[in-house]
Amino acid sequence: MATATLEEKSGKVVIRHIGLLLSGDIDQPILSADTIVIEDGLITAVGRAKDCDLEDAQTVIDARHTCVCPGLIDSHVHPVFGDWTPRQNQLGWIDSTMHGGVTTMISAGEVHLPGRPKDIVGLKALAITAQRAFANFRPGGVKVLAGAPVIEKGMTEDDFRELAAAGVSLLGEVGLGSVKAGYEAKEMVAWARKHGIQSTIHTGGPSIPGSGLIDKDVVLEADADIIGHINGGHTALPESHVCELCEKSSRAIEIVHNGNERVAIAAARAALELKCPHRIILGTDGPAGSGVQPLGILRIIALLSSLGHIPAELVFCFATGNTARIRGLNCGLIEVGRAADFVFMDRAKHTAGKTLLESVQLGDIPGIGMVMIDGLVHCTRSRNTPPATEVPVVL
Ligand SMILES: [Zn+2]
Repeated sequence: MATATLEEKSGKVVIRHIGLLLSGDIDQPILSADTIVIEDGLITAVGRAKDCDLEDAQTVIDARHTCVCPGLIDSHVHPVFGDWTPRQNQLGWIDSTMHGGVTTMISAGEVHLPGRPKDIVGLKALAITAQRAFANFRPGGVKVLAGAPVIEKGMTEDDFRELAAAGVSLLGEVGLGSVKAGYEAKEMVAWARKHGIQSTIHTGGPSIPGSGLIDKDVVLEADADIIGHINGGHTALPESHVCELCEKSSRAIEIVHNGNERVAIAAARAALELKCPHRIILGTDGPAGSGVQPLGILRIIALLSSLGHIPAELVFCFATGNTARIRGLNCGLIEVGRAADFVFMDRAKHTAGKTLLESVQLGDIPGIGMVMIDGLVHCTRSRNTPPATEVPVVL
């Protein structure tokens, strides 16, 4: 299905016969509703069909009793330009990831750009250009929030003020540039925060030759908004240090697919034991040395639920509502006024699980039957997931 232009509006859309409605809200992950009404890309009603105004819809979708979940949010990607990644010289990776249920991606820095500028005027220019380019172009319909500069020594508060005024709202991973000491990072993270720019710090060993170690003391001192890939990207800190970060910091705990899987589970369990599941958010850290994983978010959901023994409906919140709240996004939750970004799923054909949630808890990934962004259908049966047992139909 073609990518809609940014100007195209959904009109009124009604989704009926929802079998399972995952809310994205960690405090109430399952809603007892079977119908969603959308007007021009925003949710206007959620409830039982008899209580909703279903008249005059331009589009009616029969969910055929499958699951509707907020579109997945990948909290940690490294886009460059368009739908190309030089990391594995691959085209179409973002569109392919949409077929894995991801409707929003957040850049942790456009670090794979060949010849990436490291001088201050150059890094600011790149960030502003990347922010503009992805605001104007959505590969596969995916909302890519990009323009995340990698901070370098010598930046002043004026640089952060200028970036914020130009529309930059994210920092790339702190630690990928020349700022690696806790005291330096702390000052720049505070300037960023003062000007409304959210920060993420690289956690753990170097990701590729040329990057460095960021240990727990630097993470704590820098106090970035997101403890980026707390389970390493790929090389993790010792498990005890990761648990200490969960305990001593109040910031977001980001777990990624391209990290240490054992430590991913330890971090999630630590957050649950500390009674702060709302802090857990998920990313892929792709494209990476281990490739592009269009199903990366679904795979980490299945990993945490099955081997981490966490109910699947909670883990879906890590990749939807938690991320939306922490990052201030108008998606990720099934609520009136939010963006109509949804993934329709059913248990994969021939899974041992009797329900979708049970199949995920057994370690299988779901089959995707449709992806909707701003009320517009961007794919029907996914070309990447195992086939869903049942798929929705556009009436
Ligand atoms: Zn990193």
